[in-house]
Amino acid sequence: MQRIDGHVHLEHGSISAEYIEAFVDAAQKQGLESIQILDHTHRFKEFHPAYRSVIEADPTQAQWLSGKGKFQDSLRDYLALVRAMKQQRWPLEVRFGLEVCYTPESEPFLKEICRGLPLDFLVGSVHSIGGYLYDMSFSQPLLWQKQPHSAIVEQYCECVLKSVQSGLFDQIGHPDTIKMAASDAVMDRKWISRIALEAKRRGVIMECNTGCHWRYAHPDYGLSADWLKMLADLEIPVITASDAHDPCNVNRDLEQARARLLQFGVRCV
Ligand SMILES: [Zn+2]
Ligand SMILES: [Zn+2]
Repeated sequence: MQRIDGHVHLEHGSISAEYIEAFVDAAQKQGLESIQILDHTHRFKEFHPAYRSVIEADPTQAQWLSGKGKFQDSLRDYLALVRAMKQQRWPLEVRFGLEVCYTPESEPFLKEICRGLPLDFLVGSVHSIGGYLYDMSFSQPLLWQKQPHSAIVEQYCECVLKSVQSGLFDQIGHPDTIKMAASDAVMDRKWISRIALEAKRRGVIMECNTGCHWRYAHPDYGLSADWLKMLADLEIPVITASDAHDPCNVNRDLEQARARLLQFGVRCV
């Protein structure tokens, strides 16, 4: 199994060669063969229109999206840095991409802005449902206390399926992460099967992202057992991902995730 960390964020640092080097150094120290560097699209001012539904849904969310680090950098600067970084010789494979916050309502805009981006990969992640973020402290009063949990999970599953169907993404970020927001927020096997079959048909990779474990204290090291069984049965490739937001967290808990993938017989990229 390749030693890869497929999802690490520049979020807490600058868009600079020095900060990228800090991640590559950390990856080398962890004995990785490959690292995928990205950041959320809400870092970049060009992506502001993609967040309209989240901003308009509630002032608390609008305030969160006007806070530190949001829409303050330019995608053009990031792309210029990536171009320069690709001239470098690294001690391991270093790939550059974006974690795109996917919503069905922003899909036409995302198709426009993402078309032909000179990046190695795009991760599509569902972070909101019907305009409401689901994993923030304010998500409880805004979302979870207002709707039946089963209806929220249903909408989440639909959004993840649509993110795969959009054809925009090479990789789906943490595809069952709704589980960390409520103990009864469990995706049923029918949905997992629909999403997984669509991913197989389109050659989209699923993430086994340990962020749910070390950032949100969920017991799973990445994907649930139901997901892993389905991916193993359908021979769909998975990528290991820490969701590190700092160099010190590169490869975090991925040894446990790799052991689990082996145990379930899941194929890895
Ligand atoms: Zn994410
Ligand atoms: Zn992430």
